Amino acid sequence: MPRPLTLGALRLHWLEAGRFELDAGTMFGVVPKVLWSQRYPCTADNHLLLANRALLVQADRRLVLVDTGIGNKLSVKQRRNFRVRQEWSLPARLADLGIDRREITDVVLTHGDFDHAGGVTMRSASGEVELTFPLATHYLQTREWEDILRPGPRTGQSYWPENFVGLRPGENLRLVEGTAEILPGITLAHTGGHTRGHQAVWLRDRGGVALHLGDLLPNHAHGNPLWVTPFDNFPLDSVEQKERLLRQAAEEGAWLTLYHDPYLDACTFDSGHNVVRRYRYGGESA
Ligand SMILES: [Zn+2]
Repeated sequence: MPRPLTLGALRLHWLEAGRFELDAGTMFGVVPKVLWSQRYPCTADNHLLLANRALLVQADRRLVLVDTGIGNKLSVKQRRNFRVRQEWSLPARLADLGIDRREITDVVLTHGDFDHAGGVTMRSASGEVELTFPLATHYLQTREWEDILRPGPRTGQSYWPENFVGLRPGENLRLVEGTAEILPGITLAHTGGHTRGHQAVWLRDRGGVALHLGDLLPNHAHGNPLWVTPFDNFPLDSVEQKERLLRQAAEEGAWLTLYHDPYLDACTFDSGHNVVRRYRYGGESA
């Protein structure tokens, strides 16, 4: 049984929610391969294995999920293009912990891209699309929701309408502006950068601190604030926010939790962006 990372009364679990491969250029962009390849392995045809590690936070009487993986609604063509290496099975991963998906009380979405919001809804055995966590309150930044409703030519590629069916603002969708503590010790903070309404998640208790930077820090190789992905719509905002937040995390001694990393679930960095402390939850390794 994997061992949760504990921050006082908060317990953190990482649940596999689909794995795929992307061309290395889409993750490292202008960073020379001679540099990034020292930090992250790639396939013979220059692809990177990416996990989607939904973060489950067990708090006092709450079960909070941060991001939901790729979901089970991808077409055959999409699964081929994204080289899906492991299917999404989040309800089964929750069941491994003795948790029914209806028990999830809160779902935080760092942003609306399909690899984070794809598991908000699921195709049931009867073929219907339904909310995966029907009793949960979902959280997004207001401006992210605006862009999901009216995507541009670029964001429309990754905001897929079927992932948001059944979300109703004011009912099961709570829109947040800027910074908001949604539950004791759980604070959402707008970052922008990757998408206009991208947000980070601070987890704090007397026993420790963690910062979930979503796609501003997709894996342990992206510790350098200048290493932002070409997917970022506002890359200079990413650099500025990442620099600021990584500095704050270092000052607070925070764990940095990782979403797309198949090799490591949380880490800290030294001033040279090298991993110092490492945390591996367990379960399947790459
Ligand atoms: Zn992502």
